[in-house]
This record gives sequence, structure tokens and C-alpha cells, in this order.
Amino acid sequence: MRQQIVAGNWKMNKTLEEGIDLTKAILEKVEKPNGLVVIAPPYPYLRELGKMLKVRKHFHLAAQNCHEEEKGAYTGEVSADMLASVGCEFVIIGHSERRQYFKEKNDVLAAKVNVSLARGMRPIFCCGEPLHIREADTHVGYVAKQLKASLFHLKEEDFRKVVIAYEPIWAIGTGRTATSLQAQEMHQAIRVLVSKKYGKIVADETPILYGGSCNAQNAAELFAQPDVDGGLIGGASLKADDFATIVAALK
Ligand code: PEP
Repeated sequence: MRQQIVAGNWKMNKTLEEGIDLTKAILEKVEKPNGLVVIAPPYPYLRELGKMLKVRKHFHLAAQNCHEEEKGAYTGEVSADMLASVGCEFVIIGHSERRQYFKEKNDVLAAKVNVSLARGMRPIFCCGEPLHIREADTHVGYVAKQLKASLFHLKEEDFRKVVIAYEPIWAIGTGRTATSLQAQEMHQAIRVLVSKKYGKIVADETPILYGGSCNAQNAAELFAQPDVDGGLIGGASLKADDFATIVAALK
């Protein structure tokens, strides 16, 4: 069976102290997860929180982004090498907020995927359509383009390390979740695309997470879909009780 994963993306929230408290509470409330639990705190807390997660089976540390170049004169940026050196095992790449506010395009995201993999980290690659694309019913083609442009250059061996997160932009932080049917339809379409490129065995093993207002109330129904392998969680990952309930919803 392919890996089931719940990943919490804290975005630009919490002080170090609050982050430590939240991590402690999550570690207390989540006992034996049915999959991997990944936490993506802000950069300055990675090392500290990573130490807390490391001692527990199934828990992993992620960064929310990385720079596409290996190193150099990029003031304020953080490289994949640095992230790996503080214990990150996963990196979120291509989150819609990065695409929107930081103008990250598919080719830059492909470079970020490459540097992450080269440093031994697994990309959690985000894809998803804006509302007007969903309304025009061209969402499958839109997401296919994102995947082809930023992931499908990978060799099979590298692609097998990738986690895909389908996050319809109209559902992120809006309280408007995709229905479980909408999620399943897109996840299945993504799996078919992966299968056409890398074959059925790889497609069947690729974790595809849902993200977009996934919460303690709707996680179980979403995760019950055959092609939904867990979630990338924003707002609800900031509350230990909610996050623990979402992890408990893994199949
Ligand atoms: C996200 O930002 O990845 C996300 C899914 O956010 P939220 O859960 O708050 O919609």
C-alpha cells in the first residue's frame, strides 16, 4: 500500500515558543499514526523542532520552500543544502502562495525540485487550479501542465521520491473545501497522468495529498477516497487537537 501522509504547513505563523508548545501538544496527541506526519514550521525553528520530531517514529521535518540555486549571493534565501543540514527530509515546493506572491513559475519550481532531490529531500510538490479555471472546466489540463513542466523531467528513480499535493487555489484558506468527489476526480486524473509517464506501478505508489480547507470535520471523508492519500494542511495544522484528529483520519 502506498504511503499515507498528513503534512502541516504552518506558513508564517507562531513564535519559537508557540511552535515548541504546538509540537509538544501534537506529539502528545498523535500516538500511532497510520502514516507519516510531516511538520513544516518557519525556517528559524527547523533545527529546534526537528530535534523534537526526530525521536518519534513516523514524524518528519519539512521546509516550506527552498531556493533553486545551490548557493551564492542570494541575500535572505535558504538553500536545499542548508535545509538538509538541519534535518529536513521534505520540502514543500510550488505552494500557490509562492506562485502567486513570489511569482514562482514552473521552470523555477522544476529547479527547486532538482536541488531538493539532489540533497536527499523529498519534494511535496503542490499543484492546483484557480477558480476561473475550475469554472471553465479546464482544471485537469491546467494541473497536467504544472506537473509536466515541473516534475515530468525527472528520472523514474527520482520521481518515486516525490509527494504530490493537489490544492485547488479556491479552497486554500477560504473554508470552501473541494467535495470528496471533486478531490477524487482530480487525484485519479493525476494518477492517470503519472501512470502514462512513469507506468502503473509508480503511479500506484505515488502519494497524492489533498489540500484546501481540510479540517477535523471533513478529513475522514476526503481521505476515504481511493486516490486521496492524506492531506497538506494549513490553518488546521496550527491547532494540536484539530491536527491530531486529521492525522487520525488517515486510512
Ligand atoms: C495550504 O496552505 O496548503 C492549505 C491547504 O491551507 P488551508 O488548509 O488553510 O486551506
